[in-house]
Amino acid sequence: MVIGAGQAGLSAAYGLRRAGLAPGSGFVVLDGEDGPGGAWRHRWRTLRVDRAHRISSLPGLPFEPADRTRPAAEIVPAYFDAYERVYDLQVRRPVRVGAIRPAGPDLRVETDAGTWTTRALINATGTWTRPFRPRYPGAETFRGRQLHTVDYAGPEEFAGKRVVVVGGGTSAVQLLMEIATVAAATTWVTRRPPEFHEEPFDEDWGRTVVARVDERVRAGLPPQSVVSVTGLALTPEVRAAQAAGVLDRLPMFERITPEGVVWADGTAWAADVILWATGWRAALGHLAPLRLRSPGGGIAVDGTRVVADPRIHLVGYGPSASTIGANRAGQAAAREVVALLREPAAA
Ligand code: FAD
Repeated sequence: MVIGAGQAGLSAAYGLRRAGLAPGSGFVVLDGEDGPGGAWRHRWRTLRVDRAHRISSLPGLPFEPADRTRPAAEIVPAYFDAYERVYDLQVRRPVRVGAIRPAGPDLRVETDAGTWTTRALINATGTWTRPFRPRYPGAETFRGRQLHTVDYAGPEEFAGKRVVVVGGGTSAVQLLMEIATVAAATTWVTRRPPEFHEEPFDEDWGRTVVARVDERVRAGLPPQSVVSVTGLALTPEVRAAQAAGVLDRLPMFERITPEGVVWADGTAWAADVILWATGWRAALGHLAPLRLRSPGGGIAVDGTRVVADPRIHLVGYGPSASTIGANRAGQAAAREVVALLREPAAA
């Protein structure tokens, strides 16, 4: 069984199908969304295909949109839809998996649409459904609006507002640059000083990053965000925003008041909006009954295989949390699962 039909889950399904398993009977793909696209369905409208990092093709069908200036939230779901049809992947949706429990040699998959039993599981549930927002004292007293990146619908609603953007990742920088064009004022706060990366993100650099995140998840530590390893890309837009003072970053404030935010030295900034661009965590709550976590707080994986339970693979997790990484991981996991299914069942 595959859970999740984003880039990672579809790549895995493709791999299973190529290995000879029949969609719908040899393997089943469950997905919590109402339609194709995974998390791309929910990306903000101003995130155009040509402004995304780089959206890799799924295996077997090139991603060649006619108009790259269209929102990724429109183009990628249409591409996934075509992909599911071309390979007849028979994704079942919307089906939300609530819990997976051990059931002898099998796994019991409990969902809002019934229960399945499976011998092996490829988990591809991404992060979008688990936004992370750190706690700061006074947050509940704030009279303005607080939202997370997942709630962002475009800059218009921030016109004339004073906006604090929290977070040091690519999303924070992109949203800040957009909002600054219409807001009355913006301020940017991050825990660590942001590091901008001059060099192009070439393949060597990509390999180094993946190796570093891989090391962490092998050791059972929670995966790090890729930006914390790569730094932020110094694009022409970023340089312009730097020159305009939009990216003058402040350290984290100490607390939130009804009127805004306050730093440890008493400096205050009056705000109408606090935008938490503070990232995501892996959406793995449904695996909790299996007790896979290691003392380090993450789930130790070797490649994609969970060290504590080789029937389970995590794809789109840690080093494979990019569209290209998800492709490779999905197919690698499919190969291992098929090999496992061919082994004689334990007596
Ligand atoms: P998702 O696309 O999130 O798919 C997971 C699927 O699992 C979803 O359909 C979800 O509904 C489903 N699901 C979750 N929980 C359950 C459950 N309990 N039961 C059933 N279904 C469930 N990477 C790039 O390579 N290039 C980019 O340009 C790029 N831009 C990005 C921009 C943003 C804003 C973000 C946040 C990430 C970006 N990434 C990019 C990273 C990239 O999106 C991901 O690594 C990749 O697309 C994720 O694919 P996925 O299949 O792992 O997850």
